[in-house]
Amino acid sequence: MAKHTTSHPSQTTPPSQELLSVSHLKTYFPIKSGVLQRVTGYVKAVDDISFKLYPGQTMSLVGESGCGKTTAGRTILRLTPKSAGEVVFEGKDIYKLDAQELRALRPQMQLIFQDPYSSLSPRMPVGEIIAEAPRQHHIVPKEQFDTYIDKIMKDCGLQPYHRDRYPHEFSGGQRQRICIARALALNPKFIVCDEPVSALDVSIQAQIINLLMDLQAQYNLTYLFISHDLSVVEHISDLIGVMYLGDLVERGTKKEVFARPLHPYTQALFSAIPVPDPDYKMNRIILEGSIPSPANPPAGCKFHTRCRYCMEICKQQVPPSYEVEPGHVVNCHLYEGSPVVDDLTGSDDMEVQLAREKLAAAEDRAAGAAAARGQLSVDDIVSENLSEEARTDSQEAVLDRSSEWMKEREQQLERMQADRRQAEPAAAGAAPAGDESAEAPASPEK
Ligand code: SF4
Repeated sequence: MAKHTTSHPSQTTPPSQELLSVSHLKTYFPIKSGVLQRVTGYVKAVDDISFKLYPGQTMSLVGESGCGKTTAGRTILRLTPKSAGEVVFEGKDIYKLDAQELRALRPQMQLIFQDPYSSLSPRMPVGEIIAEAPRQHHIVPKEQFDTYIDKIMKDCGLQPYHRDRYPHEFSGGQRQRICIARALALNPKFIVCDEPVSALDVSIQAQIINLLMDLQAQYNLTYLFISHDLSVVEHISDLIGVMYLGDLVERGTKKEVFARPLHPYTQALFSAIPVPDPDYKMNRIILEGSIPSPANPPAGCKFHTRCRYCMEICKQQVPPSYEVEPGHVVNCHLYEGSPVVDDLTGSDDMEVQLAREKLAAAEDRAAGAAAARGQLSVDDIVSENLSEEARTDSQEAVLDRSSEWMKEREQQLERMQADRRQAEPAAAGAAPAGDESAEAPASPEK
């Protein structure tokens, strides 16, 4: 994906007042059965997640399909009811607002859907699709309305003459631009982008991602970006949250999480990101077993049925959150500072020591892969005191290998050209004099 040059508002220090605060949010869906439709259990789609977002930031939620990313986004917008926890937007708990207050707040919290086609009415012209909600919410005075809609369309890469056309007359990328314009026309502060590019071609994905970043810089928007495409996430995010079976198992800044994924699940997920180097040996971590049902999650750590570092304690106790470095939080028994691990370490538990050693090796491999993708500079790696293995996989090593390969390729081409030059006079000399057929080019008709 092409590097985007727009300066990102969130790359500056975040303002002290958060825009969105999510605490201990849970969304459970009841399972009903029998003639009386009694509740016999719950699907724990979102199970106790907490994070904060500051104006102008982008936080990405990543994880396998069914891990609760979309439900989390919808619950934050109060489109799906919560089971417990708090969602505070600009100091107001949105679940305590009455219908009128919620209606007044709605324009500020918008959603961009995954499928641009099915989220647009086929019977309405594009101008009306974009203008309908701002008109209802009186976003601008009547006399400025048309100019306002034209400007929004232009900012989203659409032309004023597109107003009278219908969604089926547009390509997939243009339809997603219409969806973005519809959300933007309400002058929002916060947008949940629910896999906005997963239905598009790769080249169009880059355009839409760059458009979202441009609009963020222009309008100081805050995004919650839901995706399972880690390359896209790496391009757009400031913060990353990794979800597994409804839990936020790791969160931190993009640089921290990509350079040093801590949770075994994050390491497995990130080990699948392709490295653009033909010589780079991928250390892919294959997760065994299938995802347990969110209706009946495993006891203790929910990931223990698939974790290669699983210890006895993991099967019994839910891992606490441990802040490994400021803002980089992981839920895993392996990390020091967890009271459970301190107890075990005190008793010289070999199982914990062994699992930690394996984990440290996996962290180094992940750092090597991040360096090969260009995430870390060599200085970063050296300053973080990573192992020799990680250093050899650093960006510098990758560049060296590429230039060696280029040299070899050039030499190979030179040898081929020399061989051809030698072969041509020999062939000309071998042809009998006067035999025109030897030099005459083959006729295409023959
Ligand atoms: S708590 Fe145990 S099972 Fe869970 S991720 Fe950490 S090591 Fe693996």
